[in-house]
Amino acid sequence: MSDDLTEEILGRMRTAGFALAGVCDARPIDRPDMFEAWLQAGHGGEMDWLAKHLAERIDPGVLVPGARSVVCVADRYADGRADRREPGHGRIARYARGGDYHAIMRERLEPIAEALRDRHPGHRFRVCVDSAPIAERDHAVRAGLGRIGKHTLLIGSGGRGSWLVLGCMVTTAQLRPSAAMPGDPCGSCTRCIDACPTRAIEPWKVKADRCISYLTIEHAGDPAAWFRDRSDDWLFGCDACIEACPHSQPTQRSRRLGIHPAYAGGVASLSLEDVVRWQSRDWERFASHGVLRRAPLERWRRNAALLQQRRQARG
Ligand code: SF4
Ligand code: SF4
Repeated sequence: MSDDLTEEILGRMRTAGFALAGVCDARPIDRPDMFEAWLQAGHGGEMDWLAKHLAERIDPGVLVPGARSVVCVADRYADGRADRREPGHGRIARYARGGDYHAIMRERLEPIAEALRDRHPGHRFRVCVDSAPIAERDHAVRAGLGRIGKHTLLIGSGGRGSWLVLGCMVTTAQLRPSAAMPGDPCGSCTRCIDACPTRAIEPWKVKADRCISYLTIEHAGDPAAWFRDRSDDWLFGCDACIEACPHSQPTQRSRRLGIHPAYAGGVASLSLEDVVRWQSRDWERFASHGVLRRAPLERWRRNAALLQQRRQARG
């Protein structure tokens, strides 16, 4: 086990501006049966890729043969301050407003991996930012980045809440594991469950096939009646469970923690009337990065039309 290499890597991650960084052993996740049962119940919806490469998702040693450690990092993309609501608008989830987190994280992680490969040619260093089947959240918990809440999201250490995107670097080097955070962050709280517009959350389980985030971005078909009748204003993605969580509320302390500047700015909401009329050039102009392009033009228009219809029906 190399303390020096661990310090070198974590130092590089801090210098690169990651809000959180830690290390865990590259062992299989603890409860693969729960993930498999969730998939078998159909809660992954049309996300067929979740079932592919299941062995790699469960065990990073299948993804990178000989893997011994996983370095986990997190960027904080928002501080949870409330949105100004615009009449006739639909909101965009905060992680999608600024830059594309895949690119933002990868362009800092890849040079670090490259430098480590040069200095330690006997080892492999593989960067994963949604680009490989790996259970980022499970490893992040083990690496001490935070704990999982009933909404199944990572609640970051130090008051960072769940406004976090995750990345990993799997390596064959044996690093010193960081300490995991003890305890349950939720206790008797049920705020995220109560706030979910589509009742998608059970404690520590989200039915993605009922989740607005999945339905507005990934789901190609006609949404179910309960989705049409919901009373929220999310056009692309959904932050309702994070907004409701006491760990993710803005405080003086959490605001001081700041967010990575690459995620600042962006469009918080769009006029539904405009989106239903979008032509491909409008979508091309607006959806300037891969996160926003995850939903094609027709899905943006469908989402906007559904919100408009529901508002009209409610008078
Ligand atoms: S993202 Fe929205 S719909 Fe999905 S679980 Fe959270 S509150 Fe529910
Ligand atoms: S809202 Fe409450 S129950 Fe949900 S994750 Fe946060 S602390 Fe846990």
